[in-house]
Amino acid sequence: MKPHPDSLPDFLSPDFSRRDLLRLGALAPLAFLAARAGLQSNGLQSAAYAAPLPSGPHTLPPLPYAYSALEPHIDALTMRTHHDRHHKIYVADLNKAIARHPELKDQSPQQLIQNLDKIPGDIRTTVKNTACGHINHSMFWQIMSPDGGGAPTGAIAGVINDNFESFDAFKTQFERAGLKRFGSGWVWLVKTKTGDFKIISTPNQGNPMLAEHGGAFPVMGNDVWEHAYYLKYKNKRGAYLKAWWNTVSWDAVNARLTMA
Ligand code: MN
Repeated sequence: MKPHPDSLPDFLSPDFSRRDLLRLGALAPLAFLAARAGLQSNGLQSAAYAAPLPSGPHTLPPLPYAYSALEPHIDALTMRTHHDRHHKIYVADLNKAIARHPELKDQSPQQLIQNLDKIPGDIRTTVKNTACGHINHSMFWQIMSPDGGGAPTGAIAGVINDNFESFDAFKTQFERAGLKRFGSGWVWLVKTKTGDFKIISTPNQGNPMLAEHGGAFPVMGNDVWEHAYYLKYKNKRGAYLKAWWNTVSWDAVNARLTMA
C-alpha cells in the first residue's frame, strides 16, 4: 500500500521506536525530546504500552484514505486520533485478552461476539467491548469515502424508500436516534433476523450482532462517541450527524447489504 502523504513519523505513536530515532540521524536529539514530551503528555499511552504487546492475532486495518480525505466534514486530527489511537487500542486490548486464552486465537472478531457465552468469564467483558470496538471501527472507515455523499444509489436506495418513505425521512430518523443516544454509542441501520430494516442505537461499543441487541446485521452505522466529533463540532452532535452524510459511500453500504 502506498503511504499516505500525511503519514510522517509520528513521535507520539507507540510504534515509534529507538531505531526510528536513529534513522533520523542529525535530527535524533530533537526527535528524542519530542518523543519524550509526547509520551509524558499522554498517560494513557504510557499505561497501555508499558509492557510488550502481542502483535496479533487481530490487526488494525489501515485507513483506506488519507487522514485529511474527509475534510471538511471530518477533520484530519480527529481521523488520526480516532484510527491511530482509539481503534488501535481496541485491537491491542483484544489481543492482550486473547493472549490469556490462546485457544481463542483463530476466532474472528465476529465469531467471538456471536458466542460470548463461550468466552471465559475473566475476559468476557473485555472481549465484548474490544472485539465490538474493532468491528465497529473497521466498518466505519470502510463506509466513508472522499467520493461519498449524495443520494443513495443501487439496492440501498430501494431499501430506504421502501422502509422509510424517503431519504430525507430516513436521515431525520437516523439523526434523531444518534442525537438521543445518551452518552457514548452508535446509531445503525440494521437488517433484523426476520428480514426487517430498522434504525437502532446501541450504547458504548455495542454492536447489533450481539445477542442482547437482537443479533441483527449492521448495514451501516455512525459513531456518536464524543471522540468522533468533539475536536471540530464540540458539543454539536447534531451538526456532526448532518455533515456525516457527505462522507457516506453508498457503494460500500451496498456491498455490506449483499452480506446481510
Ligand atoms: Mn470511535
